[in-house]
Amino acid sequence: MRDRIALIVAAGRGTRFGGPEPKQYLPLGDRTVLAAAAMALRPFMPVACVIHPDDGGRYRAATAGLDLLPPVFGGPDRQASVRNGLEALAADPPGHVLVHDAARPDLPPAVVRRILEALETHDGAAPGLPVADTLKRVEDGRSAGTVSRDGLWRIQTPQGFRFSALLEAHRQAAPGAFSDDTALAEAAGLSVAVVEGDARLEKVTEPGDAARLSAPDIRTGNGFDVHRLVPGDGVTLCGVRIAHDRALAGHSDADVGMHALTDAILGALADGDIGRHFPPSDPEWRGAASELFLAHARDIASARGARILHCDVTLVCEAPRIGPHRDAMRAELARILAIPADRVSVKATTSERLGFTGRGEGIAAQATATLSLP
Ligand code: MG
Repeated sequence: MRDRIALIVAAGRGTRFGGPEPKQYLPLGDRTVLAAAAMALRPFMPVACVIHPDDGGRYRAATAGLDLLPPVFGGPDRQASVRNGLEALAADPPGHVLVHDAARPDLPPAVVRRILEALETHDGAAPGLPVADTLKRVEDGRSAGTVSRDGLWRIQTPQGFRFSALLEAHRQAAPGAFSDDTALAEAAGLSVAVVEGDARLEKVTEPGDAARLSAPDIRTGNGFDVHRLVPGDGVTLCGVRIAHDRALAGHSDADVGMHALTDAILGALADGDIGRHFPPSDPEWRGAASELFLAHARDIASARGARILHCDVTLVCEAPRIGPHRDAMRAELARILAIPADRVSVKATTSERLGFTGRGEGIAAQATATLSLP
């Protein structure tokens, strides 16, 4: 007798998506939602998929190269599809079966292990999470009372069962009566353990969900800037005013550090540079606070759905000394970018009195920015 087999229920039409492709066949990174679900279970046991009769071509394309058992055609609803899958295994029955929704592709191995462990002492086991939100009864769009969430859990899949017990329960159940196998098993008097689930197991139900689960698109940009030092009474570096016997010359406030960082963010977005967004020929930017430029890059990133994960600025000068102002600079850049200060680094170096920075003719800055795009 085979020890255990996973059945992945993938026969739905995913009509909530409204698109031509059922959600289990949507791309997820370099695979599909269905293939990701299958590959999560494959290290633990053989996997068979229950598919829609129209999806043979899609299924073959989605699972090419994966070592799966032959697919089984599903029925008109989930209960019927699971039944078909169980019946197909009945001739050579496994000891246990795990029934999993194809639309839950991000299955942590620890959840599978918890289910298998619980099956040693129960007829069935399912992952779940306690309900964290306040529950309301709503009538005609108005709150009609709060429902206690004490003891309420949201149940996920995979749901594991003694194979013979689940098959028997399915054969006895009224068609179309149950939304999942724990409900059907309980109605048949089986004991079902609930083990700790995982937020990653959330069902793919919206068009954006598959994209959310895809590997993030991480990009790094760099920026470089130089401004000349002239006689004056202070400089602004990374948004912090520092008293000095020179000043930085430039069209704006000449904050060389913030300019380099602005270019790094634009670079990660492959969206031109600071000069294209704020032409030096435009009198509007004369004496402008560089915060304007950095905030603009932040807003472009935000409009693209990008998150600024980290940035790192290096200032190159002999004077003024940067160290005493470093944390204030980090805090100011973090405030403008609306990210925590521990994601912002400011460093400084001299150039050993070599070159224009060494002679105190100017200050240079270079920066990198790392962004995560959807
Ligand atoms: Mg500049």
